[in-house]
Amino acid sequence: MTETQPRSDNYSPKFLVDGMLGSLATKLRILGFDTKYDKDSNDHDLILKASEEGRVLVTSDKELYLHAKQQHVKAILVKGTSEEERLLELFQEAGVESLDLSNMSRCSACNFLLVDTGTKDELGRPIFKCINCGKSYWRGSHWRKLDALFSSVNRSLASNR
Ligand SMILES: [Zn+2]
Repeated sequence: MTETQPRSDNYSPKFLVDGMLGSLATKLRILGFDTKYDKDSNDHDLILKASEEGRVLVTSDKELYLHAKQQHVKAILVKGTSEEERLLELFQEAGVESLDLSNMSRCSACNFLLVDTGTKDELGRPIFKCINCGKSYWRGSHWRKLDALFSSVNRSLASNR
């Protein structure tokens, strides 16, 4: 399959999120970032994986963060207490200038890509499906809360630029 869509100029890093930050990993996927979530590997293996796969290691564990830095592996230490603070820190550190909220592109359960099924829900919202696990997605009532969170992060990113 060839890529026909023009690529966005917005820098899009790939992430490896450690076991303590599961809900952050889910949100990164919803936002379309290629994100692995690993709650089984030890520190050594996490650093190795991040390095091998060109992913930014995301952790709230200061020791793990420092170890990664020592080995010149890109890592972000997330310290915020609210999800909004964490997201903002993460994107500022990662050099992401704005979030694209227009598209649904990645499965929050397994990180594979979503395809538009061509069908719509009863309110006319398009339904997407994961090419790997088959889970269906549409922007129902749950999206309103996420949209508010992401929009707020987007505003902060814009004002801090
Ligand atoms: Zn999936």
